Amino acid sequence: MTRSSAYFDYNATAPALPEVAEAVARVMIEGGNPSSVHGSGRRAHARVEEARRKVAALIGAAARDVIFTGGGTESNALGLKGLIATQKIERLIVSPTEHPSVLDLVKAVDVDVAFVPVDSDGLVERDAFCTLLESDQKTLVSIMLANNETGVIQPIRDFAKIAKGAGAFIHTDAVQAAGKIPVNFEDLGVDLLTLSAHKLAGPQGVGALVLKSGLALAPLTHGGGQELGRRSGTENVAGIVGFGMAADIALGKIRKNISSKDLRDGLEAALLAAAPEAVIIGAGAPRLPNTILIGLPGVPADAQIIQMDLAGFAVSSGSACSSGKVSRSHVLDAMNVGDALAGSAMRISLGWGTDEEQISGFLDAWINMRNRLSQHPATKHAPGASNAPVEGEARVAS
Ligand code: PLP
Repeated sequence: MTRSSAYFDYNATAPALPEVAEAVARVMIEGGNPSSVHGSGRRAHARVEEARRKVAALIGAAARDVIFTGGGTESNALGLKGLIATQKIERLIVSPTEHPSVLDLVKAVDVDVAFVPVDSDGLVERDAFCTLLESDQKTLVSIMLANNETGVIQPIRDFAKIAKGAGAFIHTDAVQAAGKIPVNFEDLGVDLLTLSAHKLAGPQGVGALVLKSGLALAPLTHGGGQELGRRSGTENVAGIVGFGMAADIALGKIRKNISSKDLRDGLEAALLAAAPEAVIIGAGAPRLPNTILIGLPGVPADAQIIQMDLAGFAVSSGSACSSGKVSRSHVLDAMNVGDALAGSAMRISLGWGTDEEQISGFLDAWINMRNRLSQHPATKHAPGASNAPVEGEARVAS
């Protein structure tokens, strides 16, 4: 029997669109340093500026407010450390479900840190947030727009209003949201916003920090004064061109309302129908249209992922950046979902290459995996789904 295999880990990284990869290769071969005055340099400079306009358009910002960086991690560091330095920030308020590039950073800066709790769906608790903002300390808030593990979308526009009303600055990590849902920098009302190209089918190692016009930011790097002195270092011209192209394509899809939501919803419904004990984590909150975090209580996530990998399907557990090491999820801990569910959570994330055939193959493989690993009554589904244990394979107790 042949079964389609496929990549279902777009939140970890989205493979570059072929046209993006081709454009990146062309620009790399042509070369050019945007700081050079000759024709090659001027062409490279023009390419960077065109890409800046495209990235700005994706998130409704002014092009001059987009600073290209080496990715989401660097953008978070530049935004938070840069503002702490220029605005003499005394306290950070962050959610405990932030990406490690924020959570590890807050340990490394010399300011007070307050964690605002989240509810069982992963949404920041509004009342607790308001209470934390009642402070005389100069405060910077960092709350992500959409979570990489659960896909849960925070009401950042509302939080930005509250933060501004209390005189605080606010940053949002929009790495997972941008390109999947409409994101508008002006409308959100935040001071700083983080983007990463490889989450929207652009190249890895390039991102952007979007900064409210006129806000001063201390740089992390010093030297050539690129990016208006806010990020010295020769620009990754090819990567930036790829980022611009991916942003432009993503914006076109958002405008036409093209997303993987229908495929995601169909898959989610089929998974729950096949395994009534399964739990969709964060289901009570608005979520990204491409993400499912599903738990099979008591069935270890690493066993599930290995089974799915053997069947040809790439999925992950825990945070995107710790794919490959199955560690306890700080996001699920903060949501208090309980050990049995947290230890069994598998993230399925769809993207531009996902199609009906892959979804159907995935469903068969998942049902097969669930029937092998859990002690629940077997579910028969499509012809590919079997409940027979593989010889020599241990059943995992729930
Ligand atoms: N923020 C979020 C929400 C992410 O999911 C990631 C990557 O997984 C990052 C930041 C880091 O981005 P990058 O891989 O470009 O450094």
